[in-house]
Amino acid sequence: MKITRQREVIFEILKKNRNHPTALEIFDQAKKVLPDISLSTVYRTLKDMVVHGEVLEIKFEGESKARYDLNRGDDHAHFKCRMCGKVYDVSLMLPLDLVGFKVERVDVYIYGLCPDCAQKEVMA
Ligand SMILES: [Zn+2]
Ligand SMILES: [Zn+2]
Repeated sequence: MKITRQREVIFEILKKNRNHPTALEIFDQAKKVLPDISLSTVYRTLKDMVVHGEVLEIKFEGESKARYDLNRGDDHAHFKCRMCGKVYDVSLMLPLDLVGFKVERVDVYIYGLCPDCAQKEVMA
């Protein structure tokens, strides 16, 4: 696969930002490095990186826009806090039933409250 400058820039943005940005947020940052980049190029590049397994596309229920994360090859799940909306990476142990299987991607979505918001709910 061709390594383009756009790809490198998007890769670096995702590497630095572990907050699971949307394509639009990635575009805003990419523009600072590549002023000529278009939103459709960002979408196309992301799509390509997802197909090649470099990037994970994360779609939470009720969110119209996908978020993106590097596929770090670890088995991580995504936890979304329903109060503050932050997305956290949580590590995951794959079940022993999967011994012998070659897992290529893990998509686990967990919904609830982060520790800060859970505390606030108790006090409210
Ligand atoms: Zn929260
Ligand atoms: Zn993640």
